[in-house]
Amino acid sequence: MPVSDQAFVTLATNDIYCQGALVLGQSLRNQRATRKLVVLITPQVSSLLRVILTKVFDEVIEVNLIDSADYIHLAFLKRPELGVTLTKLHCWTLTHYSKCVFLDADTLVLSNIDELFDRTEFSAAPDPGWPDCFNSGVFVFQPSLETHGLLLQHATDHGSFDGADQGLLNSFFSSWSTADIHKHLPFIYNLSSNNAYTYSPAFKRFGSSVKVVHFLGPTKPWNYKYNPQMGSVLEEGSGLANQHQTSFLNLWWKIYQHSILPLYGSFRDEEEHA
Ligand code: UDP
Ligand code: MN
Repeated sequence: MPVSDQAFVTLATNDIYCQGALVLGQSLRNQRATRKLVVLITPQVSSLLRVILTKVFDEVIEVNLIDSADYIHLAFLKRPELGVTLTKLHCWTLTHYSKCVFLDADTLVLSNIDELFDRTEFSAAPDPGWPDCFNSGVFVFQPSLETHGLLLQHATDHGSFDGADQGLLNSFFSSWSTADIHKHLPFIYNLSSNNAYTYSPAFKRFGSSVKVVHFLGPTKPWNYKYNPQMGSVLEEGSGLANQHQTSFLNLWWKIYQHSILPLYGSFRDEEEHA
């Protein structure tokens, strides 16, 4: 039974990150997600991408910091460097949902993750770089204007120790590492693709149960070149990508090639015949 008061939520502030959001949304559909799919966008996103996004997501919601309520505007003026971070916090305003799972636009879902809705706010997986902090690429939350206001207040008063949402959320939900083990999502819900190899026996043992891959870091899947005939990304010669990372990248590109690019094709044909 589909549950209509719960949603998977992502964010894309420009057309580039929309490519990630589209593949993520399609990967959730492929795994028969039973919750609504929501993407938050900002005014920079082009009208073409908005149309394409509606083909994958149930709701495409524009959020605009500048036009937002006074307290958001104020937080933004005081801390302009937190632009994208404050945009991510908008997910708490989705109060027509009782519970949501946020996923970064650079994540890819490999199997059904509906069971995450059994968890409560604030649940997240450890960050591979500092496991006493959670990684903010995947988290379970409960929309609430009150929480949203408190988060913005926290941002205005304290900023963020890493300049982004992860630092802010970790200092706001500061009891995460000690208070309740149920709020620690297993690492398989947020496996950083470029760190998988650092403990390779664990990857050998548990890698096949990975449910969400996170392409965190500066090089995103859409930055690679892909050979559709070979079904493989082209190695950049740097040897940067390890074997597991390459197979996750190939999965991302396979979805992009098979399910996302055709959405553009049909739109272009419509334009030509208009
Ligand atoms: N994001 C965005 N536009 C940007 C940067 C980030 O929409 O210019 C959103 C997007 O959902 C992205 C998330 O914010 O996945 C966090 O940024 P990113 O994934 O690049 O950070 P990382 O996971 O590499 O630390
Ligand atoms: Mn990310």
